[in-house]
Amino acid sequence: MEASGLCHTDIHAWRGDWPVKPAPPFVPGHEGVGIVDAVGPDVTRVAAGDRVAVPWLHTACGTCEYCVTGWETLCAAQQNSGYSVDGAYAEYALADSRYVGLVPDGVDPMDAAPLTCAGVTTYKAVKVAGTRSSDLVAVFGVGGLGHLAVQYARIAGATIVAVDLQDDKLQMAKHLGATYTINARQQDVAAEIQKLGGADQAIATAVSPRAFEAAFASLRRGGTLSMVGLPADNEMSLPIFQTVLQGITVKGSIVGTRVDLAEVFELHRLGHTRVIRETRRLDSVNEDFAAVEAGDVTARLVFAF
Ligand code: NAD
Ligand code: ZN
Ligand code: ZN
Repeated sequence: MEASGLCHTDIHAWRGDWPVKPAPPFVPGHEGVGIVDAVGPDVTRVAAGDRVAVPWLHTACGTCEYCVTGWETLCAAQQNSGYSVDGAYAEYALADSRYVGLVPDGVDPMDAAPLTCAGVTTYKAVKVAGTRSSDLVAVFGVGGLGHLAVQYARIAGATIVAVDLQDDKLQMAKHLGATYTINARQQDVAAEIQKLGGADQAIATAVSPRAFEAAFASLRRGGTLSMVGLPADNEMSLPIFQTVLQGITVKGSIVGTRVDLAEVFELHRLGHTRVIRETRRLDSVNEDFAAVEAGDVTARLVFAF
């Protein structure tokens, strides 16, 4: 491995705070990038020396209805790197050659790591939300995922409102293309976004159900709430009346497919996205988890090996 990003999911895995628990001991990490060292006898898709990415979708069955209709991320037989099987916080990792991402030349491995989950996840969320150039998109939480969500919505041509609790993150979001920023500690987010006409899509990446509720309340009629973050506190209040009368769509969005990841790498190769990251050594992982939980990390931490 050359690089492995620290996704907030790794912290949920460590805490075991999701409804589905990983079984310790396990190696976390699903934003891994490395050079193929050796392949099994029947492997044809990759060869020793290729640069590949180890994503959340470690493997899937390849034959179910989801797998054959472009929804491999919904396969019930899938395994997940750094959760149900050992992941990428390691000098060496074992991956399924059919499911690794192929990292193109010209993409820095330290950038490729966050793109392998934070990138593909938010790229897919924008894709399924159906963002168009005239839309107002509100991104709730501009951390690892959110700072890329801002950019994919921008690439789709939308006008962006970035929401976070920290001014440095809002400043970063401005640099990355957000027109408006709102600090949720200081302002009534939904009221502010409604003053702008309401969001066509709200992408909730924040690790807080309150942010999801604010995201819902910020929508205009006919708008879409895209749920991406996975807070340990698994419930939000969703008003039925407003959802029905305002024709609101609520969508869950889980990572992205191999094709989505290839598109994410291509956008980056062409210079359309920027990954904001800091490099760490694996020795500092405990302090790094604490820093991400405390919100003290600007966007993404990436372990270098
Ligand atoms: P992160 O810690 O890097 O970013 C979270 C951001 O939300 C931070 O900037 C934080 O300041 C902000 N925030 C916290 N509370 C807020 C609030 N009330 N309002 C606005 N902003 C707030 O985390 P991340 O790595 O970007 O992951 C975010 C979540 O997404 C995690 O729960 C993770 O497990 C989940 N995730 C989901 C998928 C998926 O496929 N759906 C993929 C990867 C990660
Ligand atoms: Zn992740
Ligand atoms: Zn399947």
